[in-house]
Amino acid sequence: MIDDPKTYRYSDDLLQGRVILITGASDGIGKALALEAARLGAQVILHGRNTRKLERVYDQIIAIEGAKRPSIAVLDLASANAEGYTSLATSIVDEFGRLDGLVHNAGILGERFTIEQYDAVLWQRVMHVNVTAAFALTQVLLPLLQQSDDASVIFTSSGVGRTGRAFWGAYAVSKFATEGLSQVLADEHKHSALRVNCINPGATRTSMRLAAYPGEDRDKLKTPEQILPVYLYLLGPDSKDVTGQSLDAQ
Ligand code: NAP
Repeated sequence: MIDDPKTYRYSDDLLQGRVILITGASDGIGKALALEAARLGAQVILHGRNTRKLERVYDQIIAIEGAKRPSIAVLDLASANAEGYTSLATSIVDEFGRLDGLVHNAGILGERFTIEQYDAVLWQRVMHVNVTAAFALTQVLLPLLQQSDDASVIFTSSGVGRTGRAFWGAYAVSKFATEGLSQVLADEHKHSALRVNCINPGATRTSMRLAAYPGEDRDKLKTPEQILPVYLYLLGPDSKDVTGQSLDAQ
């Protein structure tokens, strides 16, 4: 592994020839990553639940000189069933016949409550979108990822997924589970070409951060565009043997 992935420098053709699916690509970090991955030559599959927002990202990508036309995959992770996951995987097989990168970025915050007060239905929704959906999507895409000779799966964690903190409830617990899912999958594939890692983005200027810290000075936060080097390092060829890690983007 390179010394400091946070300052990773890359060439403009880093992701040339790679097909990469990014969940939650309609906003925040996922959107910024989709735009930069497309600029670096990737064939990007934009996943989200809101077609209109995804189409706006699509339009931004086709305006980038030389970028490949992205594809849009609409699937609400809160309500998707087995058929929805299977049809997403089938459409990737039919359209591209390969998958080299899978970035589990979509997530929800839930509410900031104590465990004592936490609503059980909301708890289940947060765990479902943040963990179970990532498991289901990974499972259905593994056969395709395993056909790539240099595939990378990235999960998204958080500081509260490594050390528990009061009022972070289901979100924190879901991120601990995400770290676990990433480690188990990495260990299962440690003798293959598939690498599996986790990224903690750190405080980043997005709608989710605003919901968690409404009063904070947003100008002091890193933008999604500024935290991308670690993601690009893990998606590109320079991280070929890096697996089972949990990296900080800041
Ligand atoms: P964001 O701006 O709120 O974006 C979240 C993305 O997830 C959006 O594209 C959203 O779609 C999508 N999403 C949410 N629920 C979904 C569902 N049911 N089905 C499909 N897509 C869904 O958040 P962000 O800050 O960029 O966060 C990205 C990741 O980083 C998350 O996993 C988050 O936990 C993690 N993270 C963020 C920070 C931070 O400071 N920002 C810190 C640590 C970790 P819509 O556009 O339709 O809402």
